[in-house]
Amino acid sequence: MESLEKRIKELRDLIRHHDRRYYVLSDPEVSDKGYDDLLRELKTLEKNNPELISLDSPTQRMTNVLQEGFTTVRHSRKMYSLDNTYSYEEIEDWGKRVDKGLDNKKVEYVTELKIDGVSIALTYKKGVLVLAATRGDGIRGENVTLNIKTINSIPLKLLSPNPPDVLEVRGEIYMAKSEFEKLNKERKRQNEILFANPRNAASGSLKLLDTKIVRSRNLSCFIHSFGEVKGLTLKSQYEFMNLAKQWGLCVNPNVKLCRNLDEVFEFCNAFVDKKEKLDYEIDGVVVKVNSFSQQRVLGETLKSPRWAIAYKYPAKQATTEIINIIPQVGRTGVITPVAELNPVACSGVTIERATLHNFDEIKRLGVKIGDRVVIERAGDVIPKVLKVIVSVRSGKERAFKIPKKCPACSSLVVKEKEEDVAYRCINPVCPAQLEKSLIHFASRSAMDIEGMGEAAVVQLVKEKKVSDFADIYYLRKEDLLTLELFKDKKANNLITAITNSKKQPLSRLVFALGIRGVGEKAAYLLAQNFETLHNIAVAGKADIEVIHELGPEISCSVVEFFKHPENKRLIARLKDAQLNMIEPKAKKTNLLTGKTFVFTGELLRFSRTQAREIIRRMGGDSAASISKNTDFLVTGKSPGSKLNKANKLGVKIITEQEFEKLIGGARR
Ligand code: NAD
Repeated sequence: MESLEKRIKELRDLIRHHDRRYYVLSDPEVSDKGYDDLLRELKTLEKNNPELISLDSPTQRMTNVLQEGFTTVRHSRKMYSLDNTYSYEEIEDWGKRVDKGLDNKKVEYVTELKIDGVSIALTYKKGVLVLAATRGDGIRGENVTLNIKTINSIPLKLLSPNPPDVLEVRGEIYMAKSEFEKLNKERKRQNEILFANPRNAASGSLKLLDTKIVRSRNLSCFIHSFGEVKGLTLKSQYEFMNLAKQWGLCVNPNVKLCRNLDEVFEFCNAFVDKKEKLDYEIDGVVVKVNSFSQQRVLGETLKSPRWAIAYKYPAKQATTEIINIIPQVGRTGVITPVAELNPVACSGVTIERATLHNFDEIKRLGVKIGDRVVIERAGDVIPKVLKVIVSVRSGKERAFKIPKKCPACSSLVVKEKEEDVAYRCINPVCPAQLEKSLIHFASRSAMDIEGMGEAAVVQLVKEKKVSDFADIYYLRKEDLLTLELFKDKKANNLITAITNSKKQPLSRLVFALGIRGVGEKAAYLLAQNFETLHNIAVAGKADIEVIHELGPEISCSVVEFFKHPENKRLIARLKDAQLNMIEPKAKKTNLLTGKTFVFTGELLRFSRTQAREIIRRMGGDSAASISKNTDFLVTGKSPGSKLNKANKLGVKIITEQEFEKLIGGARR
């Protein structure tokens, strides 16, 4: 019993601590899911031991989060929170409770996006905005009218010839993703602490005392509910949302009237992907009983209405510990620090590692081994460490030291130029670099040798079967069969894949060689202009530099590469192995001349390399990032942040299917 009481106290203290970080400081230390798990544990313990419930438990009331600096106002009707769920089963359970509460009468639901912002109540008297208040503890909130008046999407006067005497609408103040990116970029430039997400940025901005700064934050608002109303009778949520629109209030367009829970789930499913395309964060879907008379029958609990529930999407952020920081050697010798994490679930996958990019980033974040950190998984990028939770440090955390020696071969690590952020191992025969180079050589966008992924390469290098690219082409089935990874069929398949790869066009071979600075596009330009590997190998710097888009750095590294005796031997052996060293002249069409494409998200019908090759063949171009020169953004599954940028710059956004139509079925 004692330990039970201790746990309950511990949970209450923890929840109060996180409430303060979240509501008052706008700087949470745990993910929402992490917080909800604590609250759920406390609720369960209290439910099973009702004698231990105390009136000040966080389960019993809405958190008191009033702040200094603003006057407080009493809400005419209590502002509730919402019950949260993370599963459809729990929504079904809620549906059953609704049916029971309504004696199984027919019920309709309205689904709306759950905007991830800060609750607000706006009071209009005879159509004029007179008060804006935060939710506060649900009973009293802060008067933030002056700040709210800086928000353009909030009308100061309703568009109605006969507005109700009193209309208090409720909604969510949010910061658009594009504004958030802009704000954090500027804060980074000014060396200020970054906001962890748009919600914190919105809530932090709303609490500023200087309206000029608030205005510069470009906040926005969506209205989704109402409080006190005098002089108007409303029948349903759906009707209210339509009326609000007519009054000139900003209502989110994604609202659906659903006849049953299957239609509710359809709506939730549709936004799993669609939410990435929105320029504002949503953390789920709110499901409401449509009819107000039915809502009244169902009523409210202390904290939340029984007639509504929030379905939350798995969070993109999570909190965990850094077990270790490992320096990893890349194919060009660059050493990248990688954080090994206590495994943690984040947006549906378990994350065990996150990148720390470079040693400057470790310094900027102030991260140490043993630290508790917030990580984020966004779009198509690898998880990254967002920030350190300094307040929970125990003192046992260890600073990470930049290695003086390569972790793979123990050669000295150097910073080539003082202004470089990267440290590298410059040993040309470093085994880690060899592994990474071989993985790159065989990868889908280079020689495309299926079956030669990381595991195979590690064994081939370890058993000394391969020590450069050419060795791959002299491998025999017997060599493979001596390795643990290969049985008869797998060995046959790899030998076939290696043989087939000999036919790859020259551009892929040039890219596969991993010449510093020569990416897919430069390799293509070299191959198209010089036509044979021999011609590239004997070209001078000036010959290369005349090619539009190939600058002095690339020309230098190409010339250096082919001058090196070891590389000359390598090319000769590749030639003996009968690799194709000629570029087929592209049968160019002009359909895409002058058009630049950028890709985001996973393509399902093409590899990105294929798509880019097709674009080039048709006279177009592709780029890695969005700019005002981009003509099309092609979106695959789970698009990343490029989508926001494209939206902001007015770049045309097309799906993979539309892209396929545009190229008229052209394939390699
Ligand atoms: P909530 O954010 O889960 O849901 C209630 C709010 O949703 C309402 O007040 C309303 O303003 C908003 N909302 C958005 N769209 C809406 C719509 N279409 N219709 C109706 N309401 C809509 O509840 P809350 O009480 O504000 O906060 C509790 C949640 O906050 C927790 O579940 C937790 O996830 C998070 N939290 C996190 C931490 C942390 O440390 N990470 C701490 C405290 C709270």
